[in-house]
Amino acid sequence: MSYIRFENLCKNYDQKAVLKDINLEIEKGTLATLLGPSGCGKSTLLRCLAGLETVTSGKVFLDGKDITDVNPKDRGIGMVFQQYSLFPNMTVEQNIAFGLKIKKTDKKVIQEKVNDIIGIVGLKEQARQYPSQLSGGQQQRAALARAIVTEPKVLLLDEPLSAIAALLRHSLQIEIRRIQQELGITAIFVTHDQDEAMVMSDVIHLMYQGHMEQSGRPIELYTKPATKFVASFIGHYNLLDAPVMKKICGADISSESIAFRPELIHVSTEPVEDPDSYMIPGEIAFSLPHGNILRYAVLCGDTQIDVDALFGTEAPYCRSDRIFLSIRKDDCIYL
Ligand code: ADP
Ligand code: MG
Repeated sequence: MSYIRFENLCKNYDQKAVLKDINLEIEKGTLATLLGPSGCGKSTLLRCLAGLETVTSGKVFLDGKDITDVNPKDRGIGMVFQQYSLFPNMTVEQNIAFGLKIKKTDKKVIQEKVNDIIGIVGLKEQARQYPSQLSGGQQQRAALARAIVTEPKVLLLDEPLSAIAALLRHSLQIEIRRIQQELGITAIFVTHDQDEAMVMSDVIHLMYQGHMEQSGRPIELYTKPATKFVASFIGHYNLLDAPVMKKICGADISSESIAFRPELIHVSTEPVEDPDSYMIPGEIAFSLPHGNILRYAVLCGDTQIDVDALFGTEAPYCRSDRIFLSIRKDDCIYL
């Protein structure tokens, strides 16, 4: 049986349904990510699990127990939020020790646990400093240490890295994942950033307007989006409706639309005759570098198709170059 389970969970604010019949299971020791655009209900779902919000209907189970009506402080849940929520008048050490002191843990045990966790999150040098003396990344490490030192049953992380600059954010993603795996913590991570979700998660639950749109391993969501929304949110898919496909390459597709990823498109200066591929003539509109990838915007009629190419030794295509795109039919997803 799964460790966390939401059963037919609904949450209304006034008349507005914010969570619509959520059914979700999370396994012990895994990191599950709630991914979705701002306002889709991610934080509300976390708050229902933590007991900071009452549910309108449905049930929440943790470790085999119905906790729907259990007092928040008796649920055994640790939280880290986007905004740094450390006590400003306490040092890093004191902040981390706080939860254990409340529980009247033995002084020597507190010292040992605090020391251990400070080592794990890499704050040995900052142990005696106050939050105002720390960078944003260090504050979030301290907040993480404070949440996990009490060994909660579940760790909830609500966009903990959103306020942190891109480069540092990436190293913290890897760091949080390492700590979660090393200690075997069951965690729910919330983000609106698909790349962050891909890096962090055992399983991604993609939410949209208060319901679960698709759940699966990162690679499954990336390669097998089940709906147009998933294709538009994950993997930068090109998404074209059937009449557009007919117009730009004469192909009749039997589904409402077709989706294909920019990196699976082949570009050539001559037409490629291949019955297993769609061939679309177009013109380079512009290109933008993304790290080691060059992303071309290609105009096919008045439809733009994005194409990713590795920076290679060949001269890149230039604006107004007339080219041909070929996409293997097997690489397309029909939605
Ligand atoms: P997310 O975390 O995915 O950005 P939230 O769970 O915070 O989304 O919010 C989901 C929806 O619920 C939003 O439309 C938001 O405006 C609404 N909402 C959240 N909290 C309240 C509240 N206390 N009262 C009324 N509406 C709320
Ligand atoms: Mg939120």
